[in-house]
Amino acid sequence: MNHFLPLGRFSFGMGDRFAHQGKAQLRACILAAERGADVVPVWNKSNREHMFIGTDPSSVRAEADAAVEALDWKKPYHVDADHIRLETVDRFIPHSDFYTIDVADSIGEPAETAAVKAFVDRHPELVGTIAIPGIDRPFQTSRADVERIVGNCLLAVQDACKIYRHIAKAKRAANFITEISMDETDSPQTPPELLVILAALADGQIPLQTIAPKFTGRFNKGVDYAGDIKQFEKEFNDDLAVIAFAIKQYRLPPSLKLSVHSGSDKFSIYGPIRRALDRFSAGVHIKTAGTTWLEELIGLAEAGGDGLELAKDIYACALDHVDNLCAPYATVIDIDRARLPSAAVANGWGSRQFVSALRHDPACREFNPSFRQLLHVAFKIAAQKGDRYLDALKRHEAVIARNVTQNLFERHMKPLMLDL
Ligand SMILES: [Zn+2]
Repeated sequence: MNHFLPLGRFSFGMGDRFAHQGKAQLRACILAAERGADVVPVWNKSNREHMFIGTDPSSVRAEADAAVEALDWKKPYHVDADHIRLETVDRFIPHSDFYTIDVADSIGEPAETAAVKAFVDRHPELVGTIAIPGIDRPFQTSRADVERIVGNCLLAVQDACKIYRHIAKAKRAANFITEISMDETDSPQTPPELLVILAALADGQIPLQTIAPKFTGRFNKGVDYAGDIKQFEKEFNDDLAVIAFAIKQYRLPPSLKLSVHSGSDKFSIYGPIRRALDRFSAGVHIKTAGTTWLEELIGLAEAGGDGLELAKDIYACALDHVDNLCAPYATVIDIDRARLPSAAVANGWGSRQFVSALRHDPACREFNPSFRQLLHVAFKIAAQKGDRYLDALKRHEAVIARNVTQNLFERHMKPLMLDL
């Protein structure tokens, strides 16, 4: 396969909006390695985040390289150009070796009838009874079913091919990891749809290593999964079975695995995910972004004094701009505004109260998911504070770093990749 850079079984996408927590994040991978699990660190930042914060993709590469050097990390690590498209990928090219090609916008756009017909003619194996090891009931599909599925996804696949080839050409001899994401769509992709999508991607000769479908249920930012856990578990298992089948059937890279976007903080599905991975000896890429920024706020609040003041100040500003902050994230947050404390109430809190409301500890009675979700989307406010925010990160580095590492290791890597 051309432009193929191998990716390990377990990999963890770590977002770091302000680029100060690279070492604290890498420390979580070191702790996992000490416990016997190789978790490949991947630093990801989307074009949208770069725009919001005013950063350049080179800063993510610099941060990753610096963390790796400082902690003497000898194993692989990567820098992910997250959710890129043809219009946005170019400035990532010199700095990234992992590309998340986002084709969600083309899902559901009707493809050319002739191309759909040609695809189904080429793939008679997708029509009829498809028995897949690990799935109890074989899929039953008619030609019309397959045509409908292909009609919905073929344009997205063609888009992905175009973007992949653009990157491959620009990277010249350098290898990279290719992910295709379609998670930011309206409806989830079913396992039979995933199979068709993989067949089409294989036709396009993309050396795909991770794929991010939209799963059933809600993956809200920074809080737990909301949806039918049983149904999620069944679909996740079926997706793994489909991937194992497609790897053989369509000669996709043997390391191909699922990527779970908005994967942080989904504590109630980590058990089902872990069991499914074990069952299929499969790997997974867990992509997280904002959970680390919230640990910065928790660390600041825990530090007390000027740190706590700054955290309260950010919350008060967020409350003033709640509509603007929430609008771009309407489909990935569920904030109950009646549960948001007023600025006056929050200003009266001590460190312990602020931290208890914000830290994602579902067993804690004071944990407030609405408060947490509003602050999750409020990183723009911190960006506006400029040096006041960045200086506070440096001043309170120790307490923040401890929270960042513990959050990733204890609450994420351990249940997903270590403990059974
Ligand atoms: Zn995503």
